[in-house]
Amino acid sequence: MAEIILVKPGELTLKGGNREAFERILHRNLKAMLHARSPGTTRIESLPGRIYIHCDSKEGAEQAENVLSHLMGISGWARTQKTEKTVEDVLAACLAAGKNLHESGVASYKIEARRADKSFPLNSYKICCAAGNLIGSKVPGLRVDVKNPEEVISVEIREKAYIYGTKKKGRRGLPSGSAGRGLLLLSGGIDSPVAGCLMASRGMGLDAVYFHTPPYTSREVQDKTIRLAEITGSFCMGLRLFIVNFTEIQKRITEQAKAEWTTVLLRMAMMEAATLIAGKTRAKCLITGESLSQVASQTIENISCTESRAGFPVLRPLIGMDKEAITVLAKDFGSYETSILPHADCCHLFSPLHPVLRGTVKEANLLYEALELRGENTKTDLLFQALRTAEVKKCGYYL
Ligand code: ATP
Ligand code: MG
Repeated sequence: MAEIILVKPGELTLKGGNREAFERILHRNLKAMLHARSPGTTRIESLPGRIYIHCDSKEGAEQAENVLSHLMGISGWARTQKTEKTVEDVLAACLAAGKNLHESGVASYKIEARRADKSFPLNSYKICCAAGNLIGSKVPGLRVDVKNPEEVISVEIREKAYIYGTKKKGRRGLPSGSAGRGLLLLSGGIDSPVAGCLMASRGMGLDAVYFHTPPYTSREVQDKTIRLAEITGSFCMGLRLFIVNFTEIQKRITEQAKAEWTTVLLRMAMMEAATLIAGKTRAKCLITGESLSQVASQTIENISCTESRAGFPVLRPLIGMDKEAITVLAKDFGSYETSILPHADCCHLFSPLHPVLRGTVKEANLLYEALELRGENTKTDLLFQALRTAEVKKCGYYL
């Protein structure tokens, strides 16, 4: 049976002159995501302030709902009945919606009606009364509660009549691709995928970089990070994951630097390498999952040291959040279960017992320069070599 889903765009309705551009991007993203999931089984109809997805079948509608749960820029959606604009058809659809609510365990409801087409014989108030009376007589277990209903049945009389019950919440935010690109430093932990998803929810397109140190870091942690890139990518129309081998750089740091500085120096090298990649991916910023003072490398002094090697603004959407709040988001974005799989990454493997807590930018850079990671020529330039051999993987692609 054919199904219709009504989708309501989110805050982009507030964006004045930009609204049309945002809606175009939203429409393009939705189309690409639906096409990737189930080519040819859905049709999109865009009207001012709303989008209808016409699905061939129940399965198609389920796929479409999965897509909507990953789409940034919508406030919500609902499975919808579309009828002719006759009182009889509209009331029958309201009754069906009431029965559905009752069957799904809902105890109280109210009706909200909007009559955009004034030629419809009942005004909004009368639609509510007539539908309420009908549902009351046929579905006695379902109670009207206008102040605090569990669910709302909405009736909209437009070019056709649309009737819908249970609404699902969208992810809000802005459509992916409406706010430039960023490069996410993605590790196998809980924080960085959440940082990426949060920036994606502001409309930022993403690519990601993962630094690994085989054989010290395992294939498992790489696979886990790829999976996290897939999840993050599913919220921003896909991303490219750069997998960069940092073994030689890690070795140089471990062999030559004072033990307490190794983590900060490694982070500085990551920032410099990420800056070089960002220059090639049209990224305008770097993104990390840092949260203030969560670990030694994330004191404000050490953050200043790492940032001194970044050639772009570094966005840290989690900086003021604690682990509990970050975990709630990780569960919501669906990355948590993957993040907690037990595999240590290079930062944890090589972290010193007593790291510096308050490094100065000056000392950090003197120590960093002494490592000579950039070398005289391409052969001795360890960063160049690491980037030259980087593997690139497309993750969570829709475009
Ligand atoms: P996460 O949960 O994201 O791993 P964390 O709590 O483990 O964060 P750190 O290990 O200090 O914190 O890392 C801080 C940030 O540095 C990460 O959120 C990530 O953005 C970046 N980062 C750390 N390790 C790597 C890595 N191996 N590759 C790419 N980025 C990394
Ligand atoms: Mg980490």
